[in-house]
Formats: sequence, C-alpha cells, structure tokens
Amino acid sequence: MSTWFQDHIARLQGYVPGEQPRVSGLIKLNTNENPYPPSPRVAEAIREALDGRLRLYPDPLATTFLTAVAKLHNVPPEMVLAGNGSDDLLTIMTRAFVGAGEIAVFPNPSYILYRTLIELQGGVPVAIPFDSHWRLDPRGFAARKPKLAFLANPNSPSGTALAPDLVGEIASNVDCPLVVDEAYVTFANNDCTSLLATHRNVIILRTLSKDYALAGLRLGYLIAAPEVVEGLIKVKDSYNCDTLSLLGGVAAVEDQAHLLANRAKLLATRARLRAAVLELGYECPESQANFVWCTGGPDATSVANQLRERKLLVRLMRYPGFADGLRITVGTDEQIDCLLEALREIVQR
Ligand SMILES: *Cc1c(COP(=O)(O)O)cnc(C)c1O
Repeated sequence: MSTWFQDHIARLQGYVPGEQPRVSGLIKLNTNENPYPPSPRVAEAIREALDGRLRLYPDPLATTFLTAVAKLHNVPPEMVLAGNGSDDLLTIMTRAFVGAGEIAVFPNPSYILYRTLIELQGGVPVAIPFDSHWRLDPRGFAARKPKLAFLANPNSPSGTALAPDLVGEIASNVDCPLVVDEAYVTFANNDCTSLLATHRNVIILRTLSKDYALAGLRLGYLIAAPEVVEGLIKVKDSYNCDTLSLLGGVAAVEDQAHLLANRAKLLATRARLRAAVLELGYECPESQANFVWCTGGPDATSVANQLRERKLLVRLMRYPGFADGLRITVGTDEQIDCLLEALREIVQR
C-alpha cells in the first residue's frame, strides 16, 4: 500500500503531537494548554449561534473575526487572515512558498512541525542551531538562501525569545517571507508586530489556543502585507474556519481583560515553578512563555515515566545533538504544587 504514496510522503515520519490522554484524573502539563477557562463570553457567543446559521456555509473570509483582530492590532483588515488553528496557516504558507527541492529554514531546537510541513511539500528542511544561550546568528537563515523562514518567538521548547531588533535584522537579511510564530507572545516581554511597518516580508502568526485557552476551538490568524494575504487566500480552503469558532474567536479577542487577568496568574506561577526546578538542580532558561524547559537533571525519560506513574504528564523532548529535556506547562498553582512534590521525590531519591 505504501507504493500508492508519493516517495516523499512514504518516507515521512509524520508529526506526533503531545499525548491527549483518554483516561481522566491526569494532571496535564505536556501541551501548553491554558489551565484556566476561556472568557465566558465565548460559550455565550457559540450558544447564541446554534440556530439556522449552521445550515449555511461560514463567511469564507471570516470578516467579523478579521475586523475584531484588525482593531486589536490597529492594522487594516486586509492585513489579516484567519486559520483553523495556526497550524493551518503554517500549512497554507508552506504550500504557497516552498516547492519541491527548495530550501526552507527554521531554528533548532524549535517547533518540530515546521520540518514536517516542509517535507510534505517535498522541500528541503534546513535547521539552524541556536547557540548554547539560545541566541541565533542573524545571518544564519540568509546564508542558506531559503524560500521561507520560520521563527517561533518565544521559542518552544526553550521559552526564550529573541529581541524584536534582532528579528528585524533576520528579516532584512533574508530574501523571502519570515514567519514570526508568536504562539506564546502574550507571556513575553515584547512582540514583533512593529516590524510589519518596516519589513514587508514579516508575517506575524498568532493562535488562540494557548493564551486565550481555546485549543479545542481551532482558531489562529496571521498579519502580513495585504498582497501576501491576497496570495494566501488563493491557497487556503474556502471554508477553513467554521461559524462557531469564528464567533467564539470574536468574543475571545474582545475580552482582553480576561486574557490579562489569566496572564498575570500564569506569570506568577511560572516564576515559582522556575525557581523550584532551579533549586532541584535543573538548568532552566528564563521563560517568556507558558512553560519552562528543564535540562541537566537525572535521565529525562526516566523522570517523565515516573511522573506519568504519578498521573503527571509533562513533555519529554529529544533533539539530536542537544540534551534531552522536560518541557513543563505552567498549570494552576495547585497543579504545579503536585508536580513539584513529585519531582522533588523523584529527583532527590
Ligand atoms: C501550539 C503552537 C502552534 C499551534 O497552534 P494551533 O493554533 O493550536 O494550531 C504553533 N506554533 C507554535 C510554536 C506552537 O507552540
């Protein structure tokens, strides 16, 4: 049967997302979901829409959602495109910009999906390593003459972020679109949206999955030059976002007070979590995201397994050439207390 598939698909490993356990009672700190509920206005908006509207196709251009996002970022709606999660937009961009045999770049260690998407296109993935302080040479991407560049900022799994000036330098150096994937930017000190005014190749990518606590809704958006958005519309599915998620999305982005209150709680818990893992002897860079990256402790696979036995899920991550590590999502204070108690027992034994 594998001969039915194109060679590059048959060879492909496929992206493996973090575990979504089917048993209950686990404390889930493995996929950077938000432990707090989304704005109550989201459910309200969805409930109100459960009527004749579901009979009809959604607005293919998601106009109401784009208008809400445009207002939030103070850009014209022509600069915004909605996606079925930001992963959908990553797919659309890779399809649009990367052809068979063409190079696309991303840093390493980073979001593993970038490589998969490039391989799906028959493109050539080139990983540019971070240095030991999670810095990136601003000429590293450009030197490979890519057709597309991805940069998760803040980065996963490290939680570290490059300064907007440096990201601007990278954008100036490359002769292709630079996707600045800001999935975690609500938890960071800076964002790169100001680069849109100075660099026409910068594409800002956002998701409602993490900061807005809507991973189950599947909604993200990008902000880019109007001619880039116009081209990407030709590539996307006509109805890539459904009626309910678009209405929920509007309610979410219009409730910034909810987002900020949630953020404040998570930043406080993050500081406490990081201090505790440092005390246990882990290396843990200062995080600008809703997770921390722990290396340098006892064997990471063994620790992850022992945590799993205690009903605690964290993400074990292995990148060839780098030390294995545990990426721990910032949960509620109660969840993090449980985690730290278990981790102290395991590590200090
Ligand atoms: C979670 C994540 C995404 C995917 O977000 P969805 O909108 O849920 O598809 C994209 N990029 C990075 C870096 C992420 O961590």
